[in-house]
Amino acid sequence: MKIEFQNPTAEKLYSKLLEEAPDLYIAPKRVERRGILPCGFGKGGTCCRNCNMGPCQIVEGVEELKGICGADASVVSARNFARLVAGGASAHSDHGRIIARAFYEAVHGKAPLEIRDKRKLKIVANALGVDTNLSEQEILKQIADKAFQAFSQQEGELILAHRAPRPLVEKWRKYKVLPRGIDREVVELIHRTHMGVDQYYKNILLGAARCALADGWGGSMIATELQDLILGTPKPIKARVNIGKNVIRKDMVNVAVHGHDPLVADALIEASRDPEIIEMAKKVGAKGVNLVGVCCTGNEVLMRRGLPIAGSSIQQEVVIATGALEAMIVDVQCIMPNITQIANEYHTAVITTNPISMMEGAIHVSFNEKHPLETAKEILKIAISRFPKRDPSKVYIPNDTVEIVVGFSHETIMYIMGGRFRASYKPLNENIINGRVLGVAAIVGCDQFRVKENIQVELAKELIANNVLVLTTGCSAIKLGMAGLLAPEAAELAGPGLREVLEAIGCPPVLHVGSCVDNSRILIAATEMVHTGGLGNDIYELPTVGCAPQWMSEKAVSIGMYFVTSGIQVVFGPNFPTIKSKKTTHFLFYEIEKYFGGSWRVASTANEFANIMIDRINQKRKALGIDKPKPRILYDMAMRRALDEARYIPPFHKLDYFGSVEMKQAVS
Ligand code: SF4
Ligand code: SF4
Repeated sequence: MKIEFQNPTAEKLYSKLLEEAPDLYIAPKRVERRGILPCGFGKGGTCCRNCNMGPCQIVEGVEELKGICGADASVVSARNFARLVAGGASAHSDHGRIIARAFYEAVHGKAPLEIRDKRKLKIVANALGVDTNLSEQEILKQIADKAFQAFSQQEGELILAHRAPRPLVEKWRKYKVLPRGIDREVVELIHRTHMGVDQYYKNILLGAARCALADGWGGSMIATELQDLILGTPKPIKARVNIGKNVIRKDMVNVAVHGHDPLVADALIEASRDPEIIEMAKKVGAKGVNLVGVCCTGNEVLMRRGLPIAGSSIQQEVVIATGALEAMIVDVQCIMPNITQIANEYHTAVITTNPISMMEGAIHVSFNEKHPLETAKEILKIAISRFPKRDPSKVYIPNDTVEIVVGFSHETIMYIMGGRFRASYKPLNENIINGRVLGVAAIVGCDQFRVKENIQVELAKELIANNVLVLTTGCSAIKLGMAGLLAPEAAELAGPGLREVLEAIGCPPVLHVGSCVDNSRILIAATEMVHTGGLGNDIYELPTVGCAPQWMSEKAVSIGMYFVTSGIQVVFGPNFPTIKSKKTTHFLFYEIEKYFGGSWRVASTANEFANIMIDRINQKRKALGIDKPKPRILYDMAMRRALDEARYIPPFHKLDYFGSVEMKQAVS
């Protein structure tokens, strides 16, 4: 059976690996050789194994094919969907908790982390309800306390959710989905989907909505904001993506960082510059230690430090297959156990760093945030010890690297749109109103081994050709980078209106916004667009749309659900996890829109995605009355009034993000 590969780099390296080890199982080979296709019940959401009378395979509308307990397809598929959300929300949020704990220890002098972005201090303080007039040290301590409280609070409202536009917060209150504490929402959702608890699919799905909001406006947002404080807020930076000779270096000890937690990777960067480590590397014949990223840990250090990224989730095996990787350091999430088998073919050490995330066949070195440099040096010493074992006859580094520009946090987008004194979304809103920019689309989430088509790339090209500005995160961003779409030169592929805007500000047509948790940045960007004025009063009115064309992880479902519950349509592909229940799917595709303004859709080809997404943007433009071209008029008087009446000064100015008091006055 012929094995198909996802991209030319993967094909070259997998082919080489299979020549060296023909019996080895790699992910694309497992797809072909498993012999059992994914089961339709499992894929469509109607297999229940929530108790030991099952597993029960349910067929909607067939009485004898309900579960033994009588659960029908709507109950089972809603429960399964909710559990995907709970899994995803817990992963993002536990990541947020890791960062919150490190932050707490840092501000209490127990961990040697500094605050690299003090400009953001008051923004985060304000969002968490901390008095911004307190001393810097007191603000830091209270941010740390409030971040922990967001996880544990039993009642009341999650304070970060108050960052959303007011009409949206009111809807969340009305339908009782405004989250309490993050942990409470996850535990409650697992409870209510236990056998014999919540038996009404709509109620289960509203529970899923609440839990997802606790992720997007809670756990993920805490991860993003606190990471920005301690590691720095991303700014535009040139970098490289995909495997190549200047990404994996023949003359250096190569170490890949893979997973999601940037603290380990950041410490490794510092350790790689330590004289003792450089000296050790030289002693074994290397010029030093070279770090490369994979997956979302890669995205985190790519965005902040410009570290090259070797590939997305689907390239985690082939990075090792270069034969030039001394160690792969993993933290949490999206790490395939198969990498230890690939590593066994070479001299590569797989090193786990988090006690909740271990693997048979790997070396474990627990990352200690109180002594990050020491732990990182211990890890790098293992990597250096592997360098003399590298077999030059097995080394093959394809030269497929692409130059990119990354680092588009929402603060940065405001800055590049308006400059230092007028940083805001106003220029973007104006260009949407005047029709140069049709709207904004987010292409987020995973890539995966069962999908061979390059959906994200073809889709992004079609969107930008239709003047849609694209924001991207996660492994989709890496894929789009590999296709050259994160370079300013890709503006040539944009439609004339979008190209004109991009050329004026000098940025790519596809903006890399960050890792999976950084989808929370998109929520803030959408909120800022609403507050800026001229495009309605709530997120659902914006001509925006999102998608995850190759969703793989539970986190993608949680992300999609918090976007939908925040008012944005999300197109999932290549399949939808409740599709075997018409009732559940109808609720998620249509009925939920009446509650929050967002909804789900499914598509399987780039063309289908593009049609749905462009249609959605056009519907929103029509509803706003901006669907007709207005030649030679920037925006009409009504729109100008709407923008002027708003006289909106983003809190980023009021809270010193963009500079001093004089600058605030210049803005106002
Ligand atoms: S909870 Fe009901 S549907 Fe699920 S496995 Fe048990 S009996 Fe079957
Ligand atoms: S985008 Fe998906 S595959 Fe990639 S790191 Fe995030 S969850 Fe994992």
